[in-house]
Amino acid sequence: MKAAYFKEHGGADKILFGDYRDPVADAPEVVVRVRACALNHVDMLLLDGRFPPPEGLPHVNGCEVTGTLEPGGAGIKGVQAGQRVIVFPGLSCGQCEFCLRGERTVCLRYGYLGAHRDGGYAELCKVPAANVLPLPDAISFEQGAAVPLAMLTAWHAVVAQAGVRPGQTVLVQAAGSGVGSAAIQIARLCGARVMATVGSDDKRELGQALGAEHVVNYRTQDFVEEARRWTGKRGVDVVVEHIGGDTFERSVYALGRLGTLITIGSHDTHWGRLDLRHVYSKNLRVLGTNLGSIVELRHVLEHLVAGRLQPVIDRAFPLRDAPAAVQYLLDRKNRGKVLLIP
Ligand SMILES: [Zn+2]
Repeated sequence: MKAAYFKEHGGADKILFGDYRDPVADAPEVVVRVRACALNHVDMLLLDGRFPPPEGLPHVNGCEVTGTLEPGGAGIKGVQAGQRVIVFPGLSCGQCEFCLRGERTVCLRYGYLGAHRDGGYAELCKVPAANVLPLPDAISFEQGAAVPLAMLTAWHAVVAQAGVRPGQTVLVQAAGSGVGSAAIQIARLCGARVMATVGSDDKRELGQALGAEHVVNYRTQDFVEEARRWTGKRGVDVVVEHIGGDTFERSVYALGRLGTLITIGSHDTHWGRLDLRHVYSKNLRVLGTNLGSIVELRHVLEHLVAGRLQPVIDRAFPLRDAPAAVQYLLDRKNRGKVLLIP
């Protein structure tokens, strides 16, 4: 098969397009013919070596995949060749203490499609049969590819972890990102009022269109001051944060008493300072979260079918142009998800 892979760490120029070993499914696995794969920021960490692929190089990135099932997988219930599917990207053992508690995202042997095994920047990709769900006909392959990591993670963060309620105020960092564009919509769906940040003025409109009342350019405005002003000096109830560094540190200052900072990524840096005085004196919660469950993925798909959530897709590149697609994301030109189409 053809794939976009890398043999050494670095920038977009390290991605090669060419022949790659065909995936061979061991039961109970299936092979998916990839129809769309979304880029995700975790791909960039794998590529540049900040999060080297645990199985070594060469490696194929791509954790957000939709496609059709290839023949095979005989005897696996509910699996039919040609079926349209969406892939749940979390890989868990099903046997450790945390899996048995139903908390699979903190499995002792947790892994991601496209990180702990080759992913979807390819014509074919192999996944456990339990990780494929039917993709409803009303959802295109392109729309579906925006969901499995970005939208599901945002859903789990806002709904399950932060427990956002009607009337609360939520600050979403980076409205132009996949996770940010999803978090705004989900917080609105929960009945919250939303403020969002963007890195350039031309992304303001996107933030507003998604339902943010107040959109702030964090390069030219102080989002902490803006959050205080927007809430009448009270501070917001929840911040959805995935940037790290200064953004993480300052997000705490934007919170009001009993507020929740939910961290779901570290796109700029893995590190962030925490002013503990704010945490204890305001009784703040700092929560970490990753991905969500297959059941939650089903809920998200239902909301998509009903038109209550809309994946934000910037553009699609042919698979052979993967280096250009990655550079586009690294340059932060995207408004929403960027896709690869084999
Ligand atoms: Zn486990």
